[in-house]
Amino acid sequence: MLNFSDNRKLSFRIWRTVCALFGTFCLMNCFSCSSMVLDTQPFNVLETSHFTFFYRDGCEIEKDLKKIAKYCENGISWFSTYVGFKIELKPDIYLFDEPSGSFKEPFSDINLDSHSINGTILYYYVEQDYLTAASIILHEAIHVIQDFYFSLDNTALAEGFASFISLKFYYYYLGGSYADKDISELLKVSALQGILAGDGIPEELLKLSLPDFNRTNVLEGDRNAGLRYEIMESFITYLVEKYGIKSVIDWQRNTTVSNFKNNFNKNIPADFDECQKKWLFSIGYR
Ligand SMILES: [Zn+2]
Repeated sequence: MLNFSDNRKLSFRIWRTVCALFGTFCLMNCFSCSSMVLDTQPFNVLETSHFTFFYRDGCEIEKDLKKIAKYCENGISWFSTYVGFKIELKPDIYLFDEPSGSFKEPFSDINLDSHSINGTILYYYVEQDYLTAASIILHEAIHVIQDFYFSLDNTALAEGFASFISLKFYYYYLGGSYADKDISELLKVSALQGILAGDGIPEELLKLSLPDFNRTNVLEGDRNAGLRYEIMESFITYLVEKYGIKSVIDWQRNTTVSNFKNNFNKNIPADFDECQKKWLFSIGYR
């Protein structure tokens, strides 16, 4: 059982989706990060083992900063234990009280420093909830790990895995059940809804480039991934539940939009097509 309210879950899912949407978009072109980094107002700095946090004097977020930093560190240490290897990373995290510039919604954002342990993560702390903040920052930090440690170059796989890890950490920290089968149950409805709405099945999504996955309209500065994050997150959760986290980590190594099926069949003890069929059946797609 997941022992917290539907509102809380919904609220978290909206945040996570918005985060993921902007995060993915900005893997390609992080114009908002750049404008913030070039801002000349000074930042205060809080450095921990795996992150450097930047924040402005007098901002609301300052009161919760130590908790956010502690939870982010705990997130990395939890992930490191979960996957069984030591993680080194050091992205810069820019924290703000509310959205500004061209974005009106709360969101997080990442600009990878290609194939390094660095990167720039931007996060607007509108919801004033330090555990949500840490889970969202962890989602973005997973993208740094996927780039540096796995050389992963497949948006659907990257987002599905980062979303799964972020949600699992959130449940783990709340102290309730965080078994993969419970997370699977939670995601089934949105995954099925997404597929029925035409958002695509994993085989189709895994072939898409970053802008295509997000249905990015560069001219309008707009994007709409529908329920594609939930579809991939549900598929990843199913794989972790059936074949273990190590297989799913190994599938990410050097995986692109062209070799994802071969890499799946090499690293996961199952056939991709069969597995996708079984997953579709498990979420109620007939
Ligand atoms: Zn993401």
